[in-house]
Amino acid sequence: MPIRVLSEQVASQIAAGEVVERPASVVKELVENSIDAGASNLRVETRGGGKEFIRVTDDGCGVPAAEAEMAFQRHSTSKLSTADDLSHITTLGFRGEALASIASVSRVTFVTRAADEPMGTLLRLEGGKVITQQENGRPPGTAVTVENLFFNVPARRKFLRADRTERGHIDGWLTRYAMAYPELGFTLSHDGKAVFQSLGNGKLRDVLVAVYGLEVGAALLEILPGEPEASIRVSGFVSPPSLHRANRSYITLFVNGRWVQDARLTYAAFQAYHTLLPGGRYPLAVVMVQMPPEEVDVNVHPAKAEVRFSDGDAVFRAVQRAVRHTLMERSPVPLAARPPISWPSAAPTTSRREERIERLTGLRSQPAGEQLRFEPRPAEATEPGESVLATSADRLPPLRVVGQLGVTYIVAEGPQGMYLIDQHAAHERVLFEKLLAERERAAVASQSLLEPQPVELSPEATSVLEEYLESLNGLGFQAEPFGGATLLVRAIPALVAGEHPREVLEDIAAALMTGDAPLSTRVEESIARSVCKQAAIKAGQVMAREEMEELIRELERCASPRTCPHGRPTMIHLSVEQLAREFGRG
Ligand code: ADP
Ligand code: MG
Repeated sequence: MPIRVLSEQVASQIAAGEVVERPASVVKELVENSIDAGASNLRVETRGGGKEFIRVTDDGCGVPAAEAEMAFQRHSTSKLSTADDLSHITTLGFRGEALASIASVSRVTFVTRAADEPMGTLLRLEGGKVITQQENGRPPGTAVTVENLFFNVPARRKFLRADRTERGHIDGWLTRYAMAYPELGFTLSHDGKAVFQSLGNGKLRDVLVAVYGLEVGAALLEILPGEPEASIRVSGFVSPPSLHRANRSYITLFVNGRWVQDARLTYAAFQAYHTLLPGGRYPLAVVMVQMPPEEVDVNVHPAKAEVRFSDGDAVFRAVQRAVRHTLMERSPVPLAARPPISWPSAAPTTSRREERIERLTGLRSQPAGEQLRFEPRPAEATEPGESVLATSADRLPPLRVVGQLGVTYIVAEGPQGMYLIDQHAAHERVLFEKLLAERERAAVASQSLLEPQPVELSPEATSVLEEYLESLNGLGFQAEPFGGATLLVRAIPALVAGEHPREVLEDIAAALMTGDAPLSTRVEESIARSVCKQAAIKAGQVMAREEMEELIRELERCASPRTCPHGRPTMIHLSVEQLAREFGRG
């Protein structure tokens, strides 16, 4: 072929390929623009894994009507003007490429209003060409809608993966920004279902709870501050040595608010755990590095995911020292078994009569030391801006079992009144904390099947289980693809040893596929919830007194005894005061 200059259309699609690889890259670029625009609240909605529809709405500064169209021209940016500016970039964007690139490979609707203008602008583009521009009334801020990504680049569209996979990438980016900017409120929904929300209260730990779940979020250690005058400052959270993961993808690094992939810094965080972790295991860490912008070059990578430091060794040392110091100072001493509770009329604690009782035992990982708190706390009682974290105040006081009610509830009394406990929900909670604790020690009890069993499921269920095989296998399963819609199952968690493997797997797949599709980081919790739901004592099952006592004791040891893993209450508490009031004694 003779040499030719490419048409503008082809050239812009090639350039777009650098920036827009998949739906998650669109989300990343739009979210960065909203953050740069000074937004406080960002809403991200997707449909069809972002392939059909992505909308990012913010309450930032907006774009003046006169400049709206310019925002879509290549190399148009409001964030830098001279080459000199490149040496101290403080915004996430600066190349002026993203909107032009996104628009060239999709259908974009851009609705924006600058705070100081009375009217907004609506701009519709297709394949990069403006097809409509009109006035629009909307509150100050911007909403960018991107539909039919790669509609005009079939080669690219072919490489997009299943909706679920694309959603997982979107989750990854959004949760990283939520961690980097705890003071901003983020919400994410897929196909009309809310999957993630950060409160925007400025507390990183609350964001980590939203991303990784309560159990992990509560266990993380806050990195201790270093010298206040140091030019490189390190903050964030790291896992205690007892909590680890099978790969290093749970080490998340930010430099000046920008997520970076940096093998050396990842290694620095990992190395700080030297001798503290079992072989082949990695910590979970969220490490924020703040440093003078002129000492880091962010303009070395198309997606800006890699950076270059003028003094890489200094950054390495700062991260390693901060993490190590935190582990030495903050890491809890190995946790001992909790001393037995002495309640005056408690029955003997040693009965092991029935197999079911054994299922209730084994949670020994939490220290005692509760402060008592007696009002029931509904799961969703968090006010915006309030911490969602469970504290020792959530723990239960020692309770005495009175009896079973309606073959469904356990009646118990404590120093502050009467407790009506849902036996199924309480048992789910106990098993759930126990299973996650075992998971963290990579020691989940597993039951081998007599013979490996081929289990045929729906193609959808099989594909979701195959995608999360690593998580399944970390939770006591041993399963592998067996061709078609069949999995070969060699072992299942000991907790559900009595159940049929297909029913157990079907339930897990259903939970992973439907409604509250979990964030990819919380897949393990979702699997654990399904397993525990199936293993827990059902309503309608008669419980012996010893079983009830054992269950209550295990519940007292739980970090979050008042709700089941699905967030429903495990108990109703009637305080001494309430009882007195009801009986006209107070
Ligand atoms: P860059 O972010 O590198 O400047 P983009 O193509 O992403 O380039 O955006 C171009 C310009 O459009 C930005 O510089 C900014 O002025 C404007 N812009 C884009 N998104 C928003 C938004 N959500 N709010 C306000 N301005 C925006
Ligand atoms: Mg940008």
